[in-house]
Amino acid sequence: MFGYKRAAAAVFALPDPLTDLVTATGELSKIAGIGPASARVIHEVLETGASPTVERAVDASGRRADIDRRRALRAHFLSRAEVLRVLRDPALTGPCLSNYCGDLQMHSEWSDGSPSLEEISRACQQRGYLYAAVTDHSHGLKIAGGMSMAEAAEQRRAIEFLNASTPGFRFLQGIEANIGADGQLDLSPEEASAFEVVLAAPHSRLRRTEDQTDRLVTAVHNPAVRILAHPRGRITGSRAGIVADWQTVFASAARAGVAIEIDGDPSRQDLDYTLAAGALAAGCLFALDSDAHATSQLAYAETAVAHARLAGIPTDRIVNCWPLERLLAWLADRARS
Ligand SMILES: [Zn+2]
Repeated sequence: MFGYKRAAAAVFALPDPLTDLVTATGELSKIAGIGPASARVIHEVLETGASPTVERAVDASGRRADIDRRRALRAHFLSRAEVLRVLRDPALTGPCLSNYCGDLQMHSEWSDGSPSLEEISRACQQRGYLYAAVTDHSHGLKIAGGMSMAEAAEQRRAIEFLNASTPGFRFLQGIEANIGADGQLDLSPEEASAFEVVLAAPHSRLRRTEDQTDRLVTAVHNPAVRILAHPRGRITGSRAGIVADWQTVFASAARAGVAIEIDGDPSRQDLDYTLAAGALAAGCLFALDSDAHATSQLAYAETAVAHARLAGIPTDRIVNCWPLERLLAWLADRARS
């Protein structure tokens, strides 16, 4: 089992499609993490589009229904090879990486991330960003090391110190507030006003099958919220995330001027391009973010850009493609309906 899981993770992260890794003699090139049994399965799929070996094992397991359900949860996920292909495809009209000015969701050592603020600042500048928001968890999410307001004030001073020494790059202090079961945030309006950008995200009740439209609409109507982050809370192959009437959620967000996030963490990809197209039609703004917890994960923003490209979202609707002044003006504007 571990061998197959390792192989699946290796294929998911490959920069090249598997079809490019078959040699002229029909052999699969040696790929780290893929053993002979997995290579046999890959060959079957490349040749026929399915693997009789896997289907026999699924039938023998007696768990076909659960496995089919999990397979359906992988719909619209992009492999790394597919992300790179989409970013290069000139026929697509959405954003390019060169339009992307900064990332608005990432985590530092101040909550459940590993990097220091200095490390994040350096890594973002290396990626050519003009700005980035560090968005550690708020105090309500203890499991993710949420920051107390006293820690947040201390973090703000550290961010201001860094901003003073890095001309041309602006760090913003954000927060990933937790959406409770009733749609309320774990931050009071006064606490929320301490941050330059408030993301609201669900972290509970993500396996429920009942409708949670009201929960998300309530969060979107909170005047402190600027971005609805990983709106569904789905995880590839394991968790479907929130069930909601998404057109109602998107219409509320569009009216309130709240941006809908495309979270680029490869295991999330939330929203994916099909739902993002619905948000586009509803008139929403978008935030394309990495949700990085390590500096190497800042590249996850590319997955979000790829989904936006597939959905054909114009750069004008993507807040990360705006110049800093426009972004700050939008963040400061709380006079919304
Ligand atoms: Zn989150």
